[in-house]
Amino acid sequence: MSSEKTTDTSAGGYFSIPSGLGFPVTEKIFTPEKFTEEQKMAAETAKKFIEKEVAPRINEIDEQKGDYALTVKLLKKAAELGFLAIDVAEEYGGAGSDFKTAMCVSEVFGAGGSWAVSWAAHSGIGTHPLLFFGTEAQKKKYLTKLVGGEWTGAFGATEPEAGTDLYGAKTKAVLSPDGKFYILNGNKTFISNSGFADLFTILAKVDGDPKKSACFLVERGTPGFTIGKEENKMGICGSSTCPLNLVDVKVPAENLLGEIGKGIHIIFNTLNLGRLKLGAMTTGSGKYVINDAVKYAAERKQFGLPLSSFGFIKEKLANMVVGAWMTESAVYRTAGMVEERFKATDFKNLPAVLEALREYEIECAILKVAGSEMFWYIADENVQVHGGYGYIKDYLAERYLRDARINRIFEGTNEINRLTAILNMLERAGKGKLPLAKAGAALAAQLEESSGEELSDEKFALQSELVNNIKKMFFVAGGRVLEKFPTRDKIVGEQEILGRLSNMLILIYLSESGLLRAKEHGGEIQEAIVKLYVQNAALEAEKLAKEVLAYLEEGDMLKSYLGRLKRLGRTLANNLLDPVSLQRKIGDKLIEKKKYFL
Ligand SMILES: Cc1cc2nc3c(=O)[nH]c(=O)nc-3n(C[C@H](O)[C@H](O)[C@H](O)COP(=O)(O)OP(=O)(O)OC[C@H]3O[C@@H](n4cnc5c(N)ncnc54)[C@H](O)[C@@H]3O)c2cc1C
Repeated sequence: MSSEKTTDTSAGGYFSIPSGLGFPVTEKIFTPEKFTEEQKMAAETAKKFIEKEVAPRINEIDEQKGDYALTVKLLKKAAELGFLAIDVAEEYGGAGSDFKTAMCVSEVFGAGGSWAVSWAAHSGIGTHPLLFFGTEAQKKKYLTKLVGGEWTGAFGATEPEAGTDLYGAKTKAVLSPDGKFYILNGNKTFISNSGFADLFTILAKVDGDPKKSACFLVERGTPGFTIGKEENKMGICGSSTCPLNLVDVKVPAENLLGEIGKGIHIIFNTLNLGRLKLGAMTTGSGKYVINDAVKYAAERKQFGLPLSSFGFIKEKLANMVVGAWMTESAVYRTAGMVEERFKATDFKNLPAVLEALREYEIECAILKVAGSEMFWYIADENVQVHGGYGYIKDYLAERYLRDARINRIFEGTNEINRLTAILNMLERAGKGKLPLAKAGAALAAQLEESSGEELSDEKFALQSELVNNIKKMFFVAGGRVLEKFPTRDKIVGEQEILGRLSNMLILIYLSESGLLRAKEHGGEIQEAIVKLYVQNAALEAEKLAKEVLAYLEEGDMLKSYLGRLKRLGRTLANNLLDPVSLQRKIGDKLIEKKKYFL
């Protein structure tokens, strides 16, 4: 572990907004530059594993049919290196590493395509519910097997008629008259790893009662439990996704996981971790695809010149780097904050880990959205860099794009994660934990008086001011939303508004994370990245805030609100940077280095 304390003043996990309009410029956050030797070594071993074992077999993995023998073989190999349970305590056979190490490995494994999805489903949703909520006896029986790669795991929550709305799940569990078994009946759909998994965590309702949701550990081969036909998917074709059918499946009563009534709670709690890790995995995938793009752009010639010499292509490459670096900054900042909060170097104190993750639920949701959309952007632009060849299956660009798409759908769709982030924040504000409406009103007066202050000549003075201004715009728009819709039931019907506010949150969190990182570790390129991202974020945030207010207000009231935003936008209007030169600087460096280099 790094001896340096990497705190963030955002007590309570809503990134410094509670500290008023202050901006913790002097605070340190955890960043990849602070990786310890242990973390670097784990990442290096993971990289070698992906390069040697997975990448050369990427076609073979995608084409395997039936038993997924290759996927399982590679999972077992990963287990030998401790990669199925990096942050699981040694007493259960895990590697017992710290949480940040687990995040580094997740990032690297992001480059593993379909296989990485199987790995994540196994070591995440397939293992975490048992790890966090299992009894000692259940862990002894199953966890050691999952961690050692002897067995593989899957998680069955989704049903044909209950996807996003898991409360609507119909699978029913009834205790047998002798109290020895739960009898499960129902259908699940889209269950990752089900073609080969040995142990399934199944969400059901005891007696069909909505108040009695519960999870059950169900072994493959249990009579009445059948796995349906593989889905024919758009991407991640080497991962297994099947429906499950349960007809009078007798599950031993001791395989009830956690308490009756807490089944959904188990899912939502473990999802936070899944979302955070998905942020790391998509960061890794994004960087990996950037390497493909820059390689192709340097090799392919048109008009006698490499593609990389053309402004349009350079701009795409630069934007890819900006997206990956900014997301990475937010991912590791969050990992640092979460670990700091549970104050443990491993996962021994499981309730504290869950509590910390709950506290950072907003950030986890933001990272899921930001990471999946960043990766999608990179994969899409990589196809464009490849031109027609990007559309041909012989080229990896085509596969990357198909594989990237699912990240916006599973672990909670991005719509749902956007709602999770903003509703959580507004709820905290409503409970007085975050003075959003008050801050919005206080700002009104402040902005009337403000004549626009001079910027200091500190290196990132403009960007610090812009991030502050984006927050203030959020206060203006979000504060007004709260005044108009003070309760959750009033606000939930306003999704388009919530979506815009959520997008502002994403812009704030990524801008601030990249800025704090660059202040400490910024070279010339990092500086260009932050300048570019923050400027775009400020432009986008102003547009979003205006749209929210235009929906809420009209006439003089609207004019007054727009006036406040205009005053906040003045810093940028008076100090607009030339984005083209910044993009060229980043693009040129990537082309010179021939791969992602930061
Ligand atoms: C390859 C793959 C692997 C998967 N692996 C697993 C797994 O291992 N285990 C598991 O349990 N599930 C798994 N899933 C299921 C996945 O989590 C669901 O597909 C996802 O949660 C969405 O549910 P749905 O498909 O029913 O879409 P729906 O819920 O029908 O949603 C359709 C659209 O409507 C939107 N929508 C829905 N409700 C709302 C609302 N209230 N407000 C606004 N918009 C809304 C959604 O965002 C989405 O855009 C997997 C799915 C796939 C495709």
